[in-house]
Amino acid sequence: MMDLEEFRREAHKMVDFMADYLASLEEYPVKSRNSPGEVYDSVPNVPPPSGEGMDVIMADFNKNILPGMTHWQSPNFYAYFPANSSYPSLLAEMLTATMGAQCMIWDTSPAAAELEEKMMDWLKNAMRLPESWQGVIQDTASTATLCAILTAREVKTDFTINKEGVSGKTLRVYCSTETHSSIEKAVKIAGLGSRNLVKIPVDENNAMIPAELEKSIIADKAKGFIPCCVVGALGTTGTCAVDPVKEISGICKEHDVWFHIDAAYAGSALLLPEYSSLLEGIEDADSFVFNPHKWLFTNFDCTAYYVKDADALIKTFSILPEYLKTDSRGQVNDYRDWGVPLGRRFRALKLWFVLRNFGMEEILRRLRFHISLAEDLEKNINDHPDFEMVTPRNFNLVCFRFAPKGKTEEELEALNKALLKQLNDSGKVFLTHTKVKGTYVIRMVTGQTYLEQRHVEAAWELIKSTASGLS
Ligand SMILES: *Cc1c(COP(=O)(O)O)cnc(C)c1O
Repeated sequence: MMDLEEFRREAHKMVDFMADYLASLEEYPVKSRNSPGEVYDSVPNVPPPSGEGMDVIMADFNKNILPGMTHWQSPNFYAYFPANSSYPSLLAEMLTATMGAQCMIWDTSPAAAELEEKMMDWLKNAMRLPESWQGVIQDTASTATLCAILTAREVKTDFTINKEGVSGKTLRVYCSTETHSSIEKAVKIAGLGSRNLVKIPVDENNAMIPAELEKSIIADKAKGFIPCCVVGALGTTGTCAVDPVKEISGICKEHDVWFHIDAAYAGSALLLPEYSSLLEGIEDADSFVFNPHKWLFTNFDCTAYYVKDADALIKTFSILPEYLKTDSRGQVNDYRDWGVPLGRRFRALKLWFVLRNFGMEEILRRLRFHISLAEDLEKNINDHPDFEMVTPRNFNLVCFRFAPKGKTEEELEALNKALLKQLNDSGKVFLTHTKVKGTYVIRMVTGQTYLEQRHVEAAWELIKSTASGLS
């Protein structure tokens, strides 16, 4: 077992290891090439009886663990959505781990609670969210959406389901056919039944059709169902489509339905004034979530969840056992009452480090740079006879396919699957796919912290040359 002096030595070595890793990110295959079971089988079945030195442990890390990692911080990572980190974020995570505080209530670390409140204010004001709203840091957008649906459930039933359980009432939740799986998961967990999640059709831009939403709400009311919550997407996972916030919030207000906005990924773009029109009508919404841990240079996990009515949220979740009663209650925020878990990490610290060390100008510059890279890519795709954009670009997500002339739809799907596989197998890039109205498309997100123009240019060259080798 190490002592403090050995910890100091090892920690210095570790920082060098970390910096070397970050310096050599481009040398690793972006997506792990491991087969199922490789790491499991490489690790002994029982822990060692006597302690081992860090040199032995790190040798095994290099040999067995690192090859089983997909390198999310590689600038050549274009898959899913990014889970960005950055140097100041990493330093804050080191401090957070060192203090190892459990920040469940104000008393267990006043600085954690108060910095969280301030950071949520910073982001709220920077995004021009309504001033009276209040924010809390959650672990994931999935949890925040669960909180929204649970709060909506309680508000719509005068807080009776918390006490009596769900029975005899049919509460309905609405989202578009394109919305994230976390909504169905939340509906299931909330006990509402996944058959009561109504999927509203989308238009040609994959955005929810408000008239269809209103039709469903009216039809449900006629059947005696209770319309409970609408989840609108500001940036769907498939194509980053944006549901019309203003129209939907009007409908929700009219029919007295909770309106939750899932901006998990694209929410960061709302820091840019040029996108502020997307938030028109938000004052009539009820809650909003976005993930600084995706596209705001802050390590996972860090989700910003904003609500119009914090009392309703707290009333939904608060339970006060004797051992958590404190003198400060009522004067401060005890964030354990603002969500599902009791225990909480000090997540505001990394946000504070990131926002201060970057500064808002640099953050906005980076976001715009990432969007401009996607614009360039879109232009290249549109200019190429054998490639096409399958949907218009939204923010910094490009959905395209290889589409040489004279092929059937089946042939094109097979070609694009083969293209994606070869690209990812090369280790030089990692992209993922989705289906847009049945069409297989390749998704490319240009949002990684360390991304430069040369990376996107090289990726485009690789995509073209790999594709021409296929046909
Ligand atoms: C990523 C994503 C989620 C889920 O985010 P987690 O923080 O991983 O739960 C939800 N909705 C959308 C639109 C997303 O892009």
